[in-house]
Amino acid sequence: MADHPAKTGAAAKPAKPCPICGKPQVAAAKPFCSDRCKDVDLNRWLSGSYAIPAREGEEEDPE
Ligand SMILES: [Zn+2]
Repeated sequence: MADHPAKTGAAAKPAKPCPICGKPQVAAAKPFCSDRCKDVDLNRWLSGSYAIPAREGEEEDPE
């Protein structure tokens, strides 16, 4: 029995960079590179940087 030939080429694809600082993300803090960046992202949410766009057009008819 012959062993299967080892797969050549990169086994691991480059992970997406941290959206906060651009460093490679780590599994423990996906998709960020660290808990710190995770916290930064959370703070952005809390501070309203990621404002949810309001619906266009109100359902109520103006009277
Ligand atoms: Zn980061």
